[in-house]
Formats: sequence, C-alpha cells, structure tokens
Amino acid sequence: MRCPYCNGENTQVKDSRPTEENAAIRRRRACEDCGGRFTTFERVQLRELVVVKRSGRREPFERAKLLHSVEVALRKRPIDGEEIERMVSGLVRRLESMGEQDVPSSVIGELAMEALKGLDAVAYVRFASVYRHFGQAADFQEVLAEIAGLAAAPDDAAGGPGPGLGAGRNIRRPS
Ligand SMILES: [Zn+2]
Repeated sequence: MRCPYCNGENTQVKDSRPTEENAAIRRRRACEDCGGRFTTFERVQLRELVVVKRSGRREPFERAKLLHSVEVALRKRPIDGEEIERMVSGLVRRLESMGEQDVPSSVIGELAMEALKGLDAVAYVRFASVYRHFGQAADFQEVLAEIAGLAAAPDDAAGGPGPGLGAGRNIRRPS
C-alpha cells in the first residue's frame, strides 16, 4: 500500500491484529522511504454502494466519510473510538443488506441519526442539525423536544438532559 505521506510504494506491515470484535483487521504499517507510520483496516465489503445525493448526483459510498461526520458529532463526547467504529460498521452492514446498490444520502443520514440517538444525545442533536440542515430555530427546537422525550423515557440510554445540550450549537475543535 502506498505511503500517505510521501506516496512511496515501499511500505511494510509491522503489526496485524483483529479489532472491532474480530470484524476487522488493523495493520500498523511503516514506510521505508520516509519512515512514516500509518494504520489500515481490512473489513468485509458485501457490496459496492452508490450514494445518490439530493441533487441527483451519484458517488461511491465511502465509509471514511460517514465515520468522519459521526466523529465530528461525537467530538469531546465520552464515547471511545472502538464504539464509534462498531457503530459505523453496523450502519454499513445495514446499508449493504438493504439490497439496493443505490442509497439516497437521506437514508444514510436517517440511519446515522437513529444510531447516534441511542449512543449520545448531544451528538445526535449536532448531527441532526447538520444533516437536516436545521438552520431555523424552530427545527432545532423540534430536535430538542425529541431529545427531551427520550430523556423522559424510563429506560433512557442517553443519560438525561444533562449540561451540554446547548453545546450542540457550537462544535468546538480541540485547540
Ligand atoms: Zn513515506
């Protein structure tokens, strides 16, 4: 595999081990040309998915993009990387098992929101505000009401309406 730093072709696998409860293999690689180190993951791909955007544009589905948007939503939340990887893998499996090659981007967004809702309420609001283009206050209120409803449920997985719900408005980057 090509080195992401120098584009050199001379990279070596230094370490290889199962991860995500044996659903993936994680490999540590090193570049002989520049000494750069990076990690790759090997996962089962059941089928090639194509994302159909709202505009009608089509592009190959990329797990990394979905992972990134979920990670942005979960930034500084107490959810570890393994848990996020598992959630994203579960989402991809579900998309793959829908039986269609073409997947509307809205379907991916809805599934991701559903998964986040169970994982972390703050992340859910962040994600929803981006994914549904919740620019208007009214729409944002709708999501908050949904979260409040979740928090009121007896078997509340989201942890209740703790501090930080308002922080969904500002996704801060680590400094
Ligand atoms: Zn290199």
